[in-house]
Amino acid sequence: MSKKTDDVLSTNIGEFELIRRFFCSDFPSSPDTVIAIGDDASVVKPPPNTELVQSIDTQVADVHFPATAPAHLIAQRALRCAASDLAAMGATPQGFHLALTLPESNAHWLADFSDGLKKAAHELQIALIGGDTTRGKQLVISVAVQGWLALDSNSTSQALTRSGAQAGDVIYCSGPIGAAALALPQVLHNPADISGFAQAYYFPKVHLSLGQKLQGVASSCMDISDGLLQDAGHIARASGLTLEIDPEKIQCADPQQKQQCLTGGDDYQLLFTSSNPDTIAELQQQFPAVHQIGVCKKGPTGVILTGPSSEITATSGFSHF
Ligand code: ADP
Ligand code: MG
Repeated sequence: MSKKTDDVLSTNIGEFELIRRFFCSDFPSSPDTVIAIGDDASVVKPPPNTELVQSIDTQVADVHFPATAPAHLIAQRALRCAASDLAAMGATPQGFHLALTLPESNAHWLADFSDGLKKAAHELQIALIGGDTTRGKQLVISVAVQGWLALDSNSTSQALTRSGAQAGDVIYCSGPIGAAALALPQVLHNPADISGFAQAYYFPKVHLSLGQKLQGVASSCMDISDGLLQDAGHIARASGLTLEIDPEKIQCADPQQKQQCLTGGDDYQLLFTSSNPDTIAELQQQFPAVHQIGVCKKGPTGVILTGPSSEITATSGFSHF
């Protein structure tokens, strides 16, 4: 680093200088943004015949990520995890607000954070349209994402919800699960190491194009953030069904550690159901990791495991409280 750049980054900087320097330029733009950073609120113009989809996600240092992880990795993960909720609804990203609580305004850290955030934002094509910056004891990052869902020709919503599964629908997962959970010991031991499973932890794939293609095809959908089995329970409850899942069919990052894979969080694969396996088979040409894991049945609301893997327990998953 040159002496000049080093000087610029070496001091703690004020709130408005911080926003101007690290969050006002080089992010992707959105044609729908009327007013972005710099005013009291953002203004966005919805394209005709669309619905607005919004979600907020908070990440707390030493709860969701190691506080000592490199800032660009923290940013990548924060934005990807938040944008995954848009994918799960079938939406197209438009913009996000960023609320940062920082223990200090270290310019080196912020430059690195902003760098990772820009990279993720460009990949996901999502504009930074506002935020809030405060000082606090602990690093906390809240990301509020929004996007669009086109209405169908009858002006009905095409949102992929958790409640639409029907008895007889096949259950699918968008790809192998467990890598992010299996990465945890490595991530905690050496937060800067992004080899192996840590890739899945810091750079979870956001299944935006699959989510969009599932409009009108999936009967229910969600992203897996707290473990496949626990999250499957959410679809079961919302749809009032038994989800019969065969653990043998689930592709795990490490088949030797199946229990951890099925109950560990952080993967952000899509879990969905469909009454239309032929259309899903066509989609599998483009998304070959999509695989069947079970079937929806009438019966008591919940998840039942079938097949020989009786050592797997269906109840556990991540919960903050
Ligand atoms: P207000 O006091 O009206 O809430 P602020 O002074 O907090 O506004 O913020 C000034 C502008 O900078 C606003 O447009 C706000 O959206 C934006 N902003 C603040 N913090 C961030 C951030 N971390 N990332 C992006 N934009 C931010
Ligand atoms: Mg104001």
